[in-house]
Parts: sequence; C-alpha cells; structure tokens
Amino acid sequence: MRQIFVANLLEWFEENKRDLPWRKNSAPYRVWVSELMLQQTRADQVIPYYKRFMKAFPSLRALALSPRQEVLKVWEGLGYYARARNMHETAQFLVKEKKGRFPRTYEGLKELPGIGPYTAAAIGSLAFNLDEAVVDGNVARVLSRLFAYSQDVGSTVGRKQIQEWANELLPKGRAAAFNESVMELGALICLPQSPKCDQCPLKSVCRAYAKRASTRYPVKKKKKPVPHKVAGVAVVVRRDGKLLIDQRNEEDMLGGLWEFPGGKQETGESIKKCIKREIKEELGVDIKVGKHLTTVYHVYSHFTLELHVHWAKIIKGRPRAIECKNYRWVDFVHLREYPFSRADIYIIEEISRQKSKV
Ligand code: SF4
Repeated sequence: MRQIFVANLLEWFEENKRDLPWRKNSAPYRVWVSELMLQQTRADQVIPYYKRFMKAFPSLRALALSPRQEVLKVWEGLGYYARARNMHETAQFLVKEKKGRFPRTYEGLKELPGIGPYTAAAIGSLAFNLDEAVVDGNVARVLSRLFAYSQDVGSTVGRKQIQEWANELLPKGRAAAFNESVMELGALICLPQSPKCDQCPLKSVCRAYAKRASTRYPVKKKKKPVPHKVAGVAVVVRRDGKLLIDQRNEEDMLGGLWEFPGGKQETGESIKKCIKREIKEELGVDIKVGKHLTTVYHVYSHFTLELHVHWAKIIKGRPRAIECKNYRWVDFVHLREYPFSRADIYIIEEISRQKSKV
C-alpha cells in the first residue's frame, strides 16, 4: 500500500501541481514566509500578500531592518497579526545571533522563537529536504480518510497517530515533494465537503473510499459555539476635520495595529454609554456621542464581534494614551497609511461612502 500511495501521489503531483509563487524558489526565507501565511488561509488568498511581502522585504535582513509598523502594514488584511510580529522578531534574532541564516536541522529550527514543530518540519523538508513529515489540516484529512480513522483527529492520540502515519509513508530523501503533494491533494482533490474521489490517484488504496464513506472522515469532536461580543466604537472628529485613532498595546490581541477607539459593552449598558466610558478609560477625554455611523460584524477564530460605530466629538479634555500605546489625529486621506485590522478597514470604507454622498 505504501509504495502505491507514494508512486501514485508523486506522479499525480508532478502533473497537477499549481504554479504558486513560493514554489519557484525554495530558499528557507521564502518557505518560512509562505508557510506562516498559509496557516488557516487558502493559497489563492495568500498569493497577493506573499508577492507584496516579498517585494517589500526581499530578504531576511530587509525584514529584520524594517520598522514593525511597516511589517504590519504590508501584512494588513491577512489576519492573525501575532504571526507578523513573531516573524519580525525572529528575523531580528536570526540576523543578530545567527548571521542571518536559518539553522539546517529540525531541532535547530524548532528552537527559534515563533517556530513550532509544523513550521520547523515545513522549512526543514521544503528548504533543506530533511526527512520530516508535515501535518496540516489538509494532510490530516487525507490520511484520516486513507486509513478510515475513527478517532478524533484533533485529540492528542489522533494527532499523534496521523503524524506517525505521515512519518511512515514519507519516502526517504523525497520529503519536499512528498509533503507538498499530500497538501496539494488535500487542497485540490480530497476536499472537506465534496472530495473528488473519482479523480483521486489514491482511490485504489483509500479505505474511506472503499467504504463509500469519504465525508465521514476526519472524525472531529463538535466544537463549542464561539462567544459573541458586542462593542461600541467612536469615530471622533476634531474641528479641523481630523479623526482620532489609537494604537493597540503590543501585548493585546491585534497588538501594534491602529483602531478607532472603543471597547466591549458591559451588561445592562447602552451602546452610547459604553462608548463614552471606553473613550474616557482609553484616552481620558469626555465625548458627546452622535449619530450611528455603521455596524460591523466580524468573525475571529475564537469569537464573533459586533461593532456599533458612532460619530463623536470631544467636549472636555485632551487625549492621553492611557489604555493604548499611542494616539494620533489624522486627516481622512492619510488614514490608510496606518495598519488597521479588517473590522476598522470596514469603518474607513463606510466613512468614505458617507463622505462621497455629501
Ligand atoms: Fe480523499 Fe477520496 Fe482520494 Fe480517499 S479517494 S484520499 S477520500 S479524495
């Protein structure tokens, strides 16, 4: 079974692999950037970000020497901003401590800040052809179906089992092609909802297909519903038309990004009261909350968010960065020079729409 699996899979990959920009050059820096971008994000969505990132920071040294704000700005819109921050720190560490080179062993890679077993195996196999099997969501799905695995693939036992199968199947000396081909099969053929089994090079050895039960795998424990959060946000306008934005503390979620100030609604509190309280706590000013501007709904990996956004103006005090890292008054036309999260970009777009109606 192992031989058929490997031979069919590698042959299929050679004929069907997509022409992705990170496949043109397997330098460790490029593999590292692409692997971090690809976690939880589809390849077609990553392509423009990858190209933009490589143009802005063509080398590890260029990345290390760039300001954090520039890195976040180039990453803007891709989400999971902790990755961009970690990547920047790791680049600085490598340039300062390791002469700007990635270690060439799995253990050495795993010791780097922000690089876990998955990324170490990906860089090790794709850049240095080390015999390390990579297991991501695509690989777990393919292997759980191949073996018709009836345990939860997200459990400790399940993860260990899938990793063991991947290690056993990996042909020595061909780790790069093997890892990429399993991931590619998961992305193009062995799809989560509707696998294309009739086109699959593994159907002769796939146990789930033999049982005509492909979509019954992978077995996953039902996820708990994610919490829903409601927050109030102010677009504070000064007499000269400038807008007030603040920068999130580095240690917070979305740390280092800019935002319109605001925060979570407390039980029994109206949105207007919530906005007033939050702006006072965050920036030390009293505001008058005006008309509703928009409501933004956004889904994060561990909660959903509903932002009620209102126009506002300061009636007392001057802003101070109390519960934020920094603040600025900015002309609308210069707002997009700052890195924002997706939810704040929606607010900027809504302001632009309303301005164009006036
Ligand atoms: Fe996936 Fe179907 Fe191929 Fe099995 S035969 S690996 S279920 S696509």
